[in-house]
Amino acid sequence: MNTCYVGLLIVSLASTNLFAWGERGHDAVTRVAVHLLSEHGEPDMERALIGTEHKLAHLSNLPDIDWRSRDSAVIAANRPTHYIDLEYLGEPKSGWTVTNLPQTMEDYHRAIMRPCLPREKSCPQGSDFEERQSRTGHAQFRVVQLAKLAEDLGKKIVALQTRKNLTKQLNSQIKSLSDKYIALLGLISHFIADLGNPLHTSVDYDGKLVGQGGLHAYFETRIVNEFPLSFAGDVYHWAVKTKPYQQISRTHQPKSLIQMVYAHILESHLLLDELFALDRKVSLKKKSGFLPAERRRPELVYQEYYAFAKARVGTAADVLSRFWATIHRRAGRPDLSRHRSYDYPITHEFVPVDYLPHAN
Ligand SMILES: [Zn+2]
Repeated sequence: MNTCYVGLLIVSLASTNLFAWGERGHDAVTRVAVHLLSEHGEPDMERALIGTEHKLAHLSNLPDIDWRSRDSAVIAANRPTHYIDLEYLGEPKSGWTVTNLPQTMEDYHRAIMRPCLPREKSCPQGSDFEERQSRTGHAQFRVVQLAKLAEDLGKKIVALQTRKNLTKQLNSQIKSLSDKYIALLGLISHFIADLGNPLHTSVDYDGKLVGQGGLHAYFETRIVNEFPLSFAGDVYHWAVKTKPYQQISRTHQPKSLIQMVYAHILESHLLLDELFALDRKVSLKKKSGFLPAERRRPELVYQEYYAFAKARVGTAADVLSRFWATIHRRAGRPDLSRHRSYDYPITHEFVPVDYLPHAN
């Protein structure tokens, strides 16, 4: 690999992961997750959120739309929160597990700051932590950050709700905290959904390294946009029947929030080659690396992707639902009945990333 090629590769990889699932994918993950809450032991939470699932789904799209049109500092801080390029964390001989992947920011720092050989593909080239974290991504820590914020808010709601005399002022405080709690649930959905797409877990986020450039947007947006309106319903029925979280949990035995997220990431990453193979089998007409490869029009082949996408979206929805249920239980099950779905701000402030050294 000559220097010019390495340079091109780095520039190309640095501009990674422009989008995740298109709006339809995020919308489906969120709404299906709401309807799965009773499967995860939280029927009251499901009842409280069903009337506001449209707002939750809107919130779940904001990190890809509104937050990407903010100032350059927000855009730069937001971008690496949507993916984790597992290869850059260094794979142990025995393979990755939910316990040997970085559990803390110190572990993560150590993993990505190891010395890189000049042409080592599975090492995040870059002179400092700032550059390397941006290349590697850290969606798993973003999910946990938002979960902790939600759990703290939930605990505050529960503390207020247990007071004896609920004044008008206290009730309006509970309502305002409930709105914020629900908004965080919507934002969490975005990142768990992203990680359900195998391309968000790998350095080869766009198929460029295997000559299948352009697969990212083709699969997650153009193909998904061809699916019929019944897609979300099909995803729901698949998830109820298959119980993907139960299977993931049995395989990986996660013991913490970050391990739950890693279990989801590892399962997703395993399907990367299957997605590349699907592309080669049904879509790819002519290979290309840095430019998008030539493919068949999505409307001609979308049915071939249906089962794969349904399982990926369904798995993300089921993981999300269990994740929400876990946060809710840890918070003491706040009563969300004071939330009003018609209080509907069109956007949400960017939540600053708080876990990186020198966080913005
Ligand atoms: Zn995203």
